[in-house]
Amino acid sequence: MKEKYLGVHVSPLSYEGIIEDLEGRMAHGRQSTIIAVNPEKVMAAQRDEQVKKLINSSTYQIADGIGILLAARLKGGNINSRVTGVDMMANLLKFAEEQGHPVYFYGAKEEVVTKAISNIRATHPAIPIAGYTNGYHKDEDALVRKIRDSGARIIFVALGSPKQELWIQRNMSKLPNVLVFQGVGGSFDVFSG
Ligand code: UDP
Repeated sequence: MKEKYLGVHVSPLSYEGIIEDLEGRMAHGRQSTIIAVNPEKVMAAQRDEQVKKLINSSTYQIADGIGILLAARLKGGNINSRVTGVDMMANLLKFAEEQGHPVYFYGAKEEVVTKAISNIRATHPAIPIAGYTNGYHKDEDALVRKIRDSGARIIFVALGSPKQELWIQRNMSKLPNVLVFQGVGGSFDVFSG
């Protein structure tokens, strides 16, 4: 059951709830998208119907940011804890390692994404890494082919908002074997630190 704030959907699921739901969808070959919702995005959605559509058409809208929690509390809603983009990514990395799902990393500067991956390899030695591309790559079609050929099942897209969400929207139908898409903003920078 989704909650709605100023017309924007927010999922009340916890990290564990999302992973469990995702597993079921993956078993049926269904693609899922995860978008982080914060007050800036809720406000942008008021000005721009396209932004609202982009958020509401995602599979999971996670309540990143304390502002959404405050709104939930005022409305007496069901959302009691934050689900941040970076922690969602951490939970998905653990899930990918346990289940052997290959992961692709797209976005951020070359030195940031490579350092993030080497840190992730150190803490998740069994994680299958399908590949990576920095976020300043120009040829979108070639990148999509590369991702498709990599065997990735989960992709993290770190281009900032709304660039990453628009990239996911444009390309997910061309990547039928990628089942989980998360727009992660500056999270590669966090993992590289
Ligand atoms: N970025 C990118 N390509 C671009 C623009 C941005 O790869 O064309 C990367 C940038 O290097 C940084 C991330 O996207 O790693 C943006 O993070 P930011 O914290 O600005 O995103 P937010 O979470 O605020 O949307």
